[in-house]
Amino acid sequence: MVANSTVANTQPKRLSIGIIGGGIGGVAFAVALSRDSQLDVQLFEAAPQFSEIGAGVSFGPNAVKAIQLLGLENAYQRIADSSPAPFEDVWFEWRRGSDDTYLTASLAPGVGQSSVHRADFLDAIVANLPEGIAHFGKRCIGVKQGTDSATASFDDGTHFTGDVIIGFDGIKSAVRPHVLPPEQYGEITPFWSGTYAYRGMIPTRDLEIALEAKGSEKRLALVPQMYLGKDRHILTFPVKQSQLVNVVAFITDRSIPNPKLPEGEEWVQAVSQAEMLDVFAGWSPACQAILECIPEPTRWALHELPELARYQRDRVLIMGEAAHALVPHQGAGAGQALEDAYVLATLLADASCRSHNVSTVLSAFEQVRHSRTCKVQRTSHEAGDVYEYAGEGIGDDEAELINNLESRFEWLWNHDPHEDVIAAKNSLKFETSENWG
Ligand code: FAD
Repeated sequence: MVANSTVANTQPKRLSIGIIGGGIGGVAFAVALSRDSQLDVQLFEAAPQFSEIGAGVSFGPNAVKAIQLLGLENAYQRIADSSPAPFEDVWFEWRRGSDDTYLTASLAPGVGQSSVHRADFLDAIVANLPEGIAHFGKRCIGVKQGTDSATASFDDGTHFTGDVIIGFDGIKSAVRPHVLPPEQYGEITPFWSGTYAYRGMIPTRDLEIALEAKGSEKRLALVPQMYLGKDRHILTFPVKQSQLVNVVAFITDRSIPNPKLPEGEEWVQAVSQAEMLDVFAGWSPACQAILECIPEPTRWALHELPELARYQRDRVLIMGEAAHALVPHQGAGAGQALEDAYVLATLLADASCRSHNVSTVLSAFEQVRHSRTCKVQRTSHEAGDVYEYAGEGIGDDEAELINNLESRFEWLWNHDPHEDVIAAKNSLKFETSENWG
């Protein structure tokens, strides 16, 4: 039944799955599926090779749990950083950006700040991907489906037809318009959050010297820090086995509702250090030390998606950033992509899941994941407001701010994605008792 002009199937499999997009989410998903010999898994990436930028990515306890469940823990542990003793449980320390005053710390017992260098993490999970699954230079330009199959078309004129197509193709997803046709749902485009993020990496030793030269504590280099102020904040955490410190400095335009990015402006640009220093003029000695160590920052216009009405249309589903792109203020985007990957891979690996009932399985996935991922989107945006003294009912009241920071991550972190699997399987038993199990 499955016709495939790109990749020849040599033996019949229970299910054929095409994944569009080989970022952290798509690769982790492909690795998990590829462990089941009954699944034919093909991954299509637009770029000529897997690639991630040389920046850090931070994981909360829920993301670390998803990594374990995906069987990627060994790969992860080899490259992961954590907060140095005696600060092992510290996710971030929070400080006033104007004078470095310590406000509080958010604690994640047993996990602390678990972070990786993005490119290293992608390499580590790619190493678990069997040969022959990944296809490069395959930019998806459209998806269509019939009763028995779904087909992705690529810009090189080739096609892939399988039982399902999964769009893990990022915020500018080419699969999304098929799931949410514009004539029915309107044009869905990412919107600028109003925030620019200046990014850079600093050799740890350089930062320690710079901090001490300004009279600040050297430990601020390796213990993860957030410096907070009106419409601005700066975060730092170590990566690459503590050889480097990852820095992101944010500024948000709250002068008008829904600010627009100037027409034609690139989302990511190299900018001058002077521009970044100017934005944080008057900030504390530690903040000056950090920013002065970044001679060539890049500036990212942070975009997000509105909460989508649905993620699934019959045999086609979007996941990760394609479905719920968010601002990075809770360090939660990659974690949600990994939770998605674990939940769907487990459902598709169930022997009861076959071509004739796979749309019901995708629908069960959407049911258990939709409200959580939308809440993560919403609260990620709100977190930026809180950090920048603009939180509703909080503003610049530091006592309220501290209360909020000490508890706001609990619901996000204390989540076991396996419970989503159980909930989905329960609903499937109930709704598809004729075909399932
Ligand atoms: P992506 O990483 O966007 O991957 C999509 C892939 O699809 C890419 O490889 C792309 O080339 C490919 N592709 C795109 N279009 C096509 C097409 N048409 N055909 C074929 N292939 C295609 N998350 C965290 O959890 N913690 C953090 O600390 C964190 N910090 C962040 C900081 C910043 C500044 C930003 C912008 C994001 C941050 N995130 C963070 C979010 C995180 O980067 C993403 O959620 C994560 O990378 C997972 O994304 P994904 O795999 O769904 O999509």
